[in-house]
Formats: sequence, C-alpha cells, structure tokens
Amino acid sequence: DRLRELAGVREAGARVLRTTKGIHCLLPRMTEHAVYLSTADDRMIFVIPWRQFSMVGTTDTDFDGDPDRLWATREEVEYLLGAVRPALPDPRVTLDQVVYTYAGVRPLAFEEGSSASRVSRDHKVVVEGDGGRFLSITGTKLTCFRSLAEEVGDRVMRALGRRVPSRTAELTLDGLDDEAGKIEARTWMDVSEEMAATGLSRETLEILVETYGRGFARVLALLRKLPDGAERLCPRNPEIVAQLHHAVREEMAVSLQDFLLRRTGIGQSPCLGLDCFESVGRRMGELAAWSPRRLQAELEAYQAQVERSLKFRHV
Ligand SMILES: Cc1cc2nc3c(=O)[nH]c(=O)nc-3n(C[C@H](O)[C@H](O)[C@H](O)COP(=O)(O)OP(=O)(O)OC[C@H]3O[C@@H](n4cnc5c(N)ncnc54)[C@H](O)[C@@H]3O)c2cc1C
Repeated sequence: DRLRELAGVREAGARVLRTTKGIHCLLPRMTEHAVYLSTADDRMIFVIPWRQFSMVGTTDTDFDGDPDRLWATREEVEYLLGAVRPALPDPRVTLDQVVYTYAGVRPLAFEEGSSASRVSRDHKVVVEGDGGRFLSITGTKLTCFRSLAEEVGDRVMRALGRRVPSRTAELTLDGLDDEAGKIEARTWMDVSEEMAATGLSRETLEILVETYGRGFARVLALLRKLPDGAERLCPRNPEIVAQLHHAVREEMAVSLQDFLLRRTGIGQSPCLGLDCFESVGRRMGELAAWSPRRLQAELEAYQAQVERSLKFRHV
C-alpha cells in the first residue's frame, strides 16, 4: 500500500493489504508426530518435527509497524507455550527451553471487521495502473507459490502483449526441469556409494540430499572443482564450502543471512551460526567481492538478527 501510494495508484481503494504478524518458536524435539491443536481463543496452532527441533507456530495479530523491525515478544512466545502445554505435557515446554524464534508479516487481502486469524489466506492479484501494469499480490501460502507464480507470470506476459504459456505445472520442483510424473520419488537414500567416491561424511551427504534433493549432484560436481570444497564451514554443522559457492552462484544468495538462515539451516542449529558466521562471512565476501565495510555490515546484521530472535527472553 505504501508503494501504491507513492505510485499514485488507487483504483482498488486506499488499502489492499491487511498485515498480520505471526511468530514461530523452536523447542527441543518432543514428538515425532505433527500435532495440530486448537487454542482457547479458537485458533489452530501446530507442533511439527523440524530439523532437530519441534517447531511451534503461529500467532496471528494485526501489525502495522515496520516489517523490518520485528521480533517475537515474550508474551507471544508464552501464548504459544501455554496453548501447547495441555496437549504435550512435556517439562521442556518452557520459555528457557526455547532455542530460537522468528517472526513474519502476512500480506493478506484487506478485510475489515473480521479477526486477524479469520482473514482469508487466498491469494489475489490486484491489477491497476496504466495498461494494467501495476500488479499487487495479496495473501497466499508457500504451498501455492507455483499456481500464483503462473497467474502472475501470465498476467505480466499479457500486459507486455506476449503469449508464452507458463510451463511450471509440468516441471519438477527441484529445479532439474524434468517432466513431473516421470521421476522416481524417494524418502530415503543410501549414500554409501557417494561416501566412498567423495570422502565426505554420511552426515554431510545426508544434509546435501535433504537440502537439494536430486540437485545434490550439482554440489558434488562443484566440490570436485574447488580445492577446499569439502571443508566444513562450521565446527558444529555438516555443511561444506561447496554449498556456499553453490548458494552464491546458483541460488541468488546475496546476504550472509540468506546463506545461514535460508539456503542452509546453520543459523537455526543449536549454535545459531554464532560459531562460524564470521568465517562464513569472510568467505562469502571473497566470493561476492564485498568491500570490508559491506562485510562488517553483513556481520552486524547477522548478529542483530540473532539478538532479535532471542529478544523474547527480555521483552
Ligand atoms: C507468520 C507466517 C506464517 C506462515 N505460515 C504458512 C504456512 O503455514 N504454510 C504456508 O504454505 N505458507 C505460510 N506462510 C506464507 C509463506 O511464508 C509465504 O507464502 C512464502 O514465504 C513466500 O515465499 P516467497 O519466496 O515468495 O517470498 P519470501 O519468503 O518473502 O522471500 C523473499 C526473499 O527476498 C528477499 N528480498 C526482498 N527484497 C529483496 C531485494 N531487493 N534484494 C534481494 N533480496 C530481497 C527477502 O529478504 C526474502 O528472503 C506464512 C507466512 C507468515 C508470515
């Protein structure tokens, strides 16, 4: 809405967005099951196994502040823990066992009146401006990203007067561009052969398969070209240097946080990446040609992010 205002676009009204805040928190792994439960205020929350943790989420409250300055508050974490306790009577459902939290803002379609958690999550593409060239997307879930991308892509092509139908529905999700329906799906893979061929540990190979699916072979190919490709990035985590190269070259990682929090799970491991963020930052800086000032800013931004994640311990 701020961008629409700057651009002077108002055909769909002053507001198309209703922004609601949601937090997640990570507790030690308490159950192998995904648990979905209702809260006293008639909402649904979940506890799901995620990496070595149980992930608990989420809250849903209106938020009109700056989405770049956002953290899970103590009150929000306590709300989630209070809702989980009756279903999971585990002594670890306590504030001091929470390892990590994160918060986000949902850009939902503007609806007045209904409570934040009742606002529809369905996506809408709002078309405005000269020749229908100002597009705003509201709502959506990660699970629907492809159908939304297809719709937006088709609209953009139409606005540009071109006709190339989207192929996303026919392609596999792992980016290897195979035709869906012709591939073998596996939930388990024996990596012994790759261990013998590469000298990598089982733990590292399993992380590669888990992170990249069939695309893990690309990282192995890169590893063979790098003198230090097989080196671990962090003493406490199995991720390797080749993954950093892959993230910068192939996955559009542009910040240290992109790599530690979004391309790998190093930032959500028990050390929160604090044991390696400086050395990973230096390596990434070399790859991406960062100036010393940029490197410093990246390191500070990472530390600030970790502090925000743990701020609930104080406020
Ligand atoms: C609290 C909450 C709970 C949710 N729960 C669910 C759920 O249970 N199930 C579900 O399916 N979906 C859920 N969603 C929705 C889901 O998170 C989003 O649909 C999904 O993350 C959108 O993915 P994306 O890649 O399009 O955008 P994003 O995940 O927002 O990624 C965009 C990335 O681009 C980066 N970026 C932005 N601008 C720039 C720039 N100029 N240069 C470089 N990088 C930039 C951002 O830092 C960000 O990393 C939830 C969302 C929230 C906020």
